[in-house]
Amino acid sequence: MNQNNFLEIIRQVPTQKVNWPLLTQLGIELWVRRDDLLDAQISGNKFYKLWMNLEAAKCKGFRRLLTFGGPWSNHIHALAAAGKRFGFETIGLIRGEKKSELNPCLADATRWGMQLHYLSRDQYSRRYDADFQENLEKDFNAFVIPEGGANLQGALGMKLLGNYLQTSLSPEFNAICLACGTGTSLAGLAAGVDESIPVYGFSVLKGDGDLVQTLQRTYRALKDPLIIKNTRRKNETTQENWRLITGFHAGGYAKKHPEYLKKFWNDFEEQTQILLDPVYTLKLFWGIAISAQQGSWPRGHRLLAIHTGGLQGRRGFEQNST
Ligand SMILES: *Cc1c(COP(=O)(O)O)cnc(C)c1O
Repeated sequence: MNQNNFLEIIRQVPTQKVNWPLLTQLGIELWVRRDDLLDAQISGNKFYKLWMNLEAAKCKGFRRLLTFGGPWSNHIHALAAAGKRFGFETIGLIRGEKKSELNPCLADATRWGMQLHYLSRDQYSRRYDADFQENLEKDFNAFVIPEGGANLQGALGMKLLGNYLQTSLSPEFNAICLACGTGTSLAGLAAGVDESIPVYGFSVLKGDGDLVQTLQRTYRALKDPLIIKNTRRKNETTQENWRLITGFHAGGYAKKHPEYLKKFWNDFEEQTQILLDPVYTLKLFWGIAISAQQGSWPRGHRLLAIHTGGLQGRRGFEQNST
C-alpha cells in the first residue's frame, strides 16, 4: 500500500468507447471507464474509497477495521476483501436479523475473515452517531469506517482518481457521469478534475435528504483542506463543478425494478456487452439515456461514464429487491 502501487493499479483500468445506438444516433460519444474491472474482489469506486481509509487506519496503528452495511452491501464485500488482502482484521455490523443461511455476499465476506454482527433497525439507525462510533472504536479496538466508505478519506481516494483522469485522459471530455449514493464519489471526483469539467452524479435515492449539503461540505473540504469551518465567500457555489441529478431512482434504493428498467437493462447489456449492477450503474446508464434523449447535451458532446462496479450484487437481485 503506497502511492506508486495505487497509480499502478488505477492505470491498468481500461477506458473504452461504447457503441450504443441510442447515443450514437444523437451524435453523443460515450466512453466508459471500466472500474468494474479494477480488481476481482475490491470492486469499482469502493477501491478508491477504501484505499485512503486503510492508509489512515495504518497510520493510527489499528490492525482491525469495523464498518456497517446492509446484507448485500458492495462496501461490506469490498472491505472484507481489502482487509484480507492488506492484513487487517475486519468486523461488519450488518443491518437486520441474522438469516439461517448466509447470502453469497456475506458468505464471501465471512470466507475472507470478516466477523459479522447483526444490528436491529433501531440500533443500526445510530450508525452516524459520534458517541456510538467512539464506543465501537473502544470496544472493538477498531478503526471505524462509515457505511459506504462515506468520509473524507473516502472522498480523497476519489479525488486522486480525478487528478489522475485530469492528467491522463485523451481525448478530452465535456462531462463525466457517475452513479451517486452517499455522494462521496461525486464530491471527490469533481474536486479532483479541472473546474471546467462538470461531473454529473445520478442519484439512486428517492429523497435526497441532506445530500446537497454533504456534497458541498465534502467538496469544499477537499478543495481547500485548510478551511475547516465553512467560511466561503458569496457566489462561490456557481464555480463548483459537481451536479446532482435526481429523478432516476426508478422507485428507490434497491427496489424491485419496473418492467421498463428490466428491458433497458437487457438491451443495454446486449448492445454494449457491458454488465451493470442492479442498484447503481443500471440507473446511471438509464439516466444518461433519458437525459440525452431530452436534449441535455448537444451533438458532438463527449461523455465519460465511470463504471463504479458492484457486479457482485447481481447474484442476489431477486432476493435483494423488495
Ligand atoms: C457504493 C456504490 C456507489 C455509490 O457511491 P457513493 O460514493 O456512495 O456515492 C456507486 N456505484 C456502485 C456500484 C457502488 O457500489
